[in-house]
Amino acid sequence: MTRKKSFQTALIHSDYQPPEGFAALPVALHPASTVLFSNIAAMRSRNWQHKDAYTYGLHGTPTTFTLEARLAEIEGGRHCLLAPSGLAAITMVYFAFLKSGDDVLIPDNAYNPNRDLGQWLARDFGITARFYDPLIGAGIAALIQPNTRLIWTETPGSVSMEIPDIPAICKAAHARGVLVALDNTWSAGIAFRAFEHGVDIVVQALTKYQSGGSDVLMGAVITGGEELNQRLGMAHMRLGFGVGVDDAYLVLRSLPTVQLRLKAHDAGARAVAAWLQSRPEIATVLHPAYPDCPGHDIWQRDFQGAGGLFSVIFDACYTEAQTDGLVDALQLFKIGFSWGGPNSLCVPYRMQTMRAHWPHRGQLLRLNIGLEDPQDLIADLEQAMGRALS
Ligand SMILES: *Cc1c(COP(=O)(O)O)cnc(C)c1O
Repeated sequence: MTRKKSFQTALIHSDYQPPEGFAALPVALHPASTVLFSNIAAMRSRNWQHKDAYTYGLHGTPTTFTLEARLAEIEGGRHCLLAPSGLAAITMVYFAFLKSGDDVLIPDNAYNPNRDLGQWLARDFGITARFYDPLIGAGIAALIQPNTRLIWTETPGSVSMEIPDIPAICKAAHARGVLVALDNTWSAGIAFRAFEHGVDIVVQALTKYQSGGSDVLMGAVITGGEELNQRLGMAHMRLGFGVGVDDAYLVLRSLPTVQLRLKAHDAGARAVAAWLQSRPEIATVLHPAYPDCPGHDIWQRDFQGAGGLFSVIFDACYTEAQTDGLVDALQLFKIGFSWGGPNSLCVPYRMQTMRAHWPHRGQLLRLNIGLEDPQDLIADLEQAMGRALS
């Protein structure tokens, strides 16, 4: 070009090139919708499904590929796809593996939006969705139909805390060629090694422990096999699931500490659970490390630790108004959904309306133990019990 660039064009096409050879510890941020090709041949020869090159921001950048690879490593899988929320990751699994006429089995204690998604797809999109007792184990075989394609699992259920026998469910499913998907969010993929126990597809809500700051929504689907990943990749592309580079960076920044944080949440939760267990106001501690928790023996067999989330059932003499009053009286514990951040949270659930055969009569509170000193959390619970229950 002979013409000197106008100011307007120079604003867009600067001549400056930063020096090469920069090195630093953080993963580099590559914000991009458009990805550039050096020539037409390069553009035509690239396949968006191959992760050895780049085609468009939605299909990946060095930042998102790095996050995907690290998440696959943590989980013990080989492939990973990111989604804009944990629920979007669950959606990706449904659309990758189910079509009209197919059947899906969902545990009765599943993360409620997963349950609702299954019911919506059954109502309006021609699949059938059936709900099973999470403690069914090998008995799942009797529920598998010729058109059953997918079995969802969750360990433990994130409110009622039953621990299913995942190896037994996988064995029965695989004998009939059915895929098993696990929502492994509670364990962050660290306390439960899903692929070693036979699971085919793992979902993580990175919103929880992986991001760790209560400030990001993101999800991931992780697999061990090429074919499963390709099916998921088509759903990922067709549904248009991309994640923002700043959010990807926040998760990358938190990942190196995820195991340390999980251990601290686990230790804090066990200290608080032990105190609650000793209180006369509490009828049952639903924490996988406690014998009252259904599936406790399976947790002992299959898990390497626990997370910070558990539930308690109050003695049936306390009304909902009283336990609501207790939650309102808490000072350190905040009222709010989700978990995995530094703050402790508490939410009451009306189990009688959520589950067909809920065995407890007392009120249920779900506690997410954050990273505060557990003795301060215990003192907070004690003062709130004193104010609301006496
Ligand atoms: C939070 C959560 C999800 C969904 O994650 P979002 O990012 O909030 O959509 C899915 N499964 C479980 C078990 C969760 O706790």
